[in-house]
Amino acid sequence: MNSKSWRYTAEDLPQLSPFGSVLADRIAISRFEDGGWKSGGLIPMNDFRLHPGAHCLHYGSSCFEGLKAYRWDDDSIALFRPDRHIQRMQQSAAVLRLPIPDRDELMEMLVATVMDAMADIPPAPGTLYLRPILLGTDTNIGAAARPSESAVLYVMASPVGDYFAAGDRALRLLIQESARTTSQFGKVKTGANYASALGITLDARDKWGTDQILFCPDSDVQETGASNFVLIDDKTIITKPLCDSFLHGVTRDSVLQIGRDLGYEIQEKDFCVDDLLKWTQHGEAALSGTAAVLAGVGTMIHNEKEYTLSGGETGPNTQRLRKALVSVQRGTEANGHGWIKKL
Ligand code: PMP
Repeated sequence: MNSKSWRYTAEDLPQLSPFGSVLADRIAISRFEDGGWKSGGLIPMNDFRLHPGAHCLHYGSSCFEGLKAYRWDDDSIALFRPDRHIQRMQQSAAVLRLPIPDRDELMEMLVATVMDAMADIPPAPGTLYLRPILLGTDTNIGAAARPSESAVLYVMASPVGDYFAAGDRALRLLIQESARTTSQFGKVKTGANYASALGITLDARDKWGTDQILFCPDSDVQETGASNFVLIDDKTIITKPLCDSFLHGVTRDSVLQIGRDLGYEIQEKDFCVDDLLKWTQHGEAALSGTAAVLAGVGTMIHNEKEYTLSGGETGPNTQRLRKALVSVQRGTEANGHGWIKKL
């Protein structure tokens, strides 16, 4: 511990790698039983129990979120857009026919988890990553065609540094003309979507040394396995309009609003792989997400051919937008857009 009794200094951040591997000891927990949510307060993580016959383990009735708490320079703590993440979790739960988390209850759980992990929140550029997760807990292994009427909701916390092991290096993407998940399920933040993308992402890593796959079913440029995808140049930001086939990223929405404020023209429109390959000749590309923040793409691979963007580096407009986003998240920009919840 340093003199302020925080556990980590900026020099300690490499110890927190890989992202999400260091966990706070306690979780905030709540159960949905007999038609209502009942808070279970904070419990040691090791006291958590799940029945082997739980619906979520057999039929995939689970969804989660990922958001961050920031330690500002004045040592105060801020959550970024928790309302949006709660709304998205409610939307995921509705699609999965799970009990819908109560907004106020989940907000209190987030705050309780952060307060409990206060000493573990690293200084910039580190953050405390928060992982709410909702699981169907009915214990009936013949319930394939029935929803789970009971559920458990809990929030884990993980002090983190960079998401991409590469740090600030621009990323390599493989353009894959297949879907990450189904056209109805893309907007749901559920484990099955990540499971279906994992194998080909690992195969691409082995073969091409890529960080992520950019999923483009029928040539429609959608998103990667863990982030949204945006095109940027000196004047314009282009990204796919919201639809059910991909996750409605909170970072995507934030980048578009910040970009508009900075004078970029925002174009939410569909585009195809050919448009993308043409774009590489002059423009930038980036991945947006809570973990990725706004990460520049340096190389894209398509049909065994490599395309370099921005000289293989993170482009200047991507850097500018990333900086503007981080300054809202860290409170160094006065206009918080109403996105900040101070603790
Ligand atoms: N798409 C996918 C598949 C993701 O996993 C994420 C990360 N949650 C995102 C997009 C970005 O979402 P957000 O900006 O809300 O983190």
